[in-house]
Amino acid sequence: MGNGAADAAHPAELEHERQARALAGQVMKFDIVTIFPRMVEAGLVEGVIGRGRTSGLLDIVVHDLRAFTSDRHRTVDDVPFGGGPGMVLKPEPLFGAVEKIRETRGTPDAVLLMSPAGRRFTQADARRLAKAGHVVVLCGRYEGVDERVREHLATEDVSIGDYVLSGGEVPALAIVDAIGRQVPGVVGDEQSVDEDSFTRGLLDHPHYTRPAEFRGHRVPDVLLSGHHGEVRQWRRREALRQTVERRPDLVADAPLDDEERKWLRGLQGLREQDEKQGSE
Ligand code: SAH
Repeated sequence: MGNGAADAAHPAELEHERQARALAGQVMKFDIVTIFPRMVEAGLVEGVIGRGRTSGLLDIVVHDLRAFTSDRHRTVDDVPFGGGPGMVLKPEPLFGAVEKIRETRGTPDAVLLMSPAGRRFTQADARRLAKAGHVVVLCGRYEGVDERVREHLATEDVSIGDYVLSGGEVPALAIVDAIGRQVPGVVGDEQSVDEDSFTRGLLDHPHYTRPAEFRGHRVPDVLLSGHHGEVRQWRRREALRQTVERRPDLVADAPLDDEERKWLRGLQGLREQDEKQGSE
């Protein structure tokens, strides 16, 4: 069935719900500042985030940085002091944009500067920021952004990984998506957010759907058994196995119960055996 029911809601009903949520203070606000507003807007109309917006849980405004320039050419960049290649985003339009946002949309709880030099954004940040009511996201371009923006305007500078992109627009979409899906009600089935990878400090368990046999590859029998208890146990154990195999760095910090610790000893024993056999 998917999301048909939500899409079919009457506009008047939606508007009513939107107002009710705004009154209850459950709406999360985002303001994204970019020189490519259409590129960002295009990433926010479909799927979970698009629906979060139409249902009124997410109030997202994309701002064109050029609207905050004061010269005839609407200049957002300039050459770097000290020389060297490329251009740098000027501070005035970015400060102007955040000041305008503060006046018209209220004082934000966080101003995030997208930067490959920032602290790596994690699921824990997504959950923390989803509890804030209002987040501003600043997208850099060219060689980057005048350092005074990081020092005196942003509250955090954030990287989405150790690689360099041409601009902050894709990072902004990634971060708004990660935060937005943590806002209660945005993902229809709350449980699916709680079981996502990283939320419990472990990766997610594997998922299968029909057919039960595809090109000779069968779905694990336990999933077809109808024993809910066994299915739950299999999923917990497989989540742990996936994490031990693919991201052993996560296991040390994951909060495990007694049973999971027992499985872990077994899985780590197997790994050591494999490694020994591999080196023989
Ligand atoms: N010269 C800079 C790179 C600038 S890339 C440096 O070496 O650090 C241009 C813009 O893209 C940045 O200002 C930032 O907003 C965005 N960006 C690029 N890679 C990113 C990443 N991994 N995470 C977040 N933002 C990134």
